Amino acid sequence: MDETTVADMANGDGSRIKWKFLDRIVSRQGPFADPDNPIGEQALQMLSSVKVLVIGAGGLGCEILKNLALSGFTDIHVIDMDTIDVSNLNRQFLFRQADVGKHKAEVAARFVESRVRGVKITPYCGKIQDKDEDYYMQFAFVVCGLDSIEARRWINATLVGMVDEENPDSLKPLIDGGTEGFKGQSKVILPTMTSCIECQLDLHAPRAAVPLCTLATIPRQPQHCIEWAHIIAWDEERKDITLDNDDPEHITWLYQKALKRAEDFDIPGVTYSMTQGVVKNIIPAIASTNAIIAASCCNEAFKFATGSNPSLAYPPPDANNYMTYSGDDSIYTYTFTHEKKDDCPVCGNLAKTMEIDPSWTLQEFVESFAERPEAQLKKPSIRSEAKTLYMQSIASLEEQTRPNLAKKLSELVSDGEEIAVSDPALQISFKYKLVFKS
Ligand SMILES: [Zn+2]
Repeated sequence: MDETTVADMANGDGSRIKWKFLDRIVSRQGPFADPDNPIGEQALQMLSSVKVLVIGAGGLGCEILKNLALSGFTDIHVIDMDTIDVSNLNRQFLFRQADVGKHKAEVAARFVESRVRGVKITPYCGKIQDKDEDYYMQFAFVVCGLDSIEARRWINATLVGMVDEENPDSLKPLIDGGTEGFKGQSKVILPTMTSCIECQLDLHAPRAAVPLCTLATIPRQPQHCIEWAHIIAWDEERKDITLDNDDPEHITWLYQKALKRAEDFDIPGVTYSMTQGVVKNIIPAIASTNAIIAASCCNEAFKFATGSNPSLAYPPPDANNYMTYSGDDSIYTYTFTHEKKDDCPVCGNLAKTMEIDPSWTLQEFVESFAERPEAQLKKPSIRSEAKTLYMQSIASLEEQTRPNLAKKLSELVSDGEEIAVSDPALQISFKYKLVFKS
């Protein structure tokens, strides 16, 4: 922000000097603009009348809120359930030391409002699951800056479920940004028309776990020594104490155990902060990656609202809809079309074919859903065409169906049978057609 614009805001003289360059984009007919698109005053009004929802007020969210406000959006809502932690302050620049412990959504909203005159930001401090379809229906589109796959899957399933073919307003585009260290991606989802978060889930497969035997016998990396202390040594020596990731004494104990083991195997590099990172499974956050991805998301938002340029995912379904960015090894970025899947449990309607070993127990089968990249279900319940095989979400049903866990699949289902797999946390039901391996 240069000095003129800051002074401008402080003066509050009502002039639009601050918006000079923005006004130029929306007040002229550009070569890529839709010819039916309004230009000039009307276009400016359109931008300020659009109601937009931002989900997440953390690393990406702070950037997104600031960018949207400075792009001319004036009616912004934000949802975040978290409170501010001192470790957020290096990159979540809307927060100060004195804000630690307060709600992110509230503090972020007030900060941006105080700096950008004329913008109204309505915070909600709570979970996205607290809100219903009527709430989400009021927005023109949703911008997500989340670090949780589960929350993404929930909002995606909700927006796809809201689409009513008779009512074009029910289609709410979802602009989704995500970062991990030096890598990031931004994408636009037009629910039911383009590939959705669930179609793309296998691109975000959980990192493969290190096999227990490596940890127990031949560690090769400092992280293996920390995992060993975390998973094996703690259980052997401090079984009666519940490990608290936030207790410095506990982390110090793990650190010292890991360090000793690393020395025994001649592995350098174990540190206290690495121990903290491994145990808490912290994803490294880099402020510049957040800034780049948030900028891309907000450009898409601006293009949606003004029609000044074609957005990612337009025209559906064949347009590029997915931008990926990597700053790991110099810089690389690439935009491609991620195709919708007919067997997507959210936006498709075909059952996915799954080859299974009929000698597996139901227990083994249930556990495999946590690992399957396209499912990633922690507490799946399973129904066959005829009956409930295993139900985890209701205690009495769990007890009733528990004996099935020890049975072989061949006793419970027939070759070619369709099953439904669901997880209460996600409101998504997967359809699989089971084919026996011979
Ligand atoms: Zn889908």
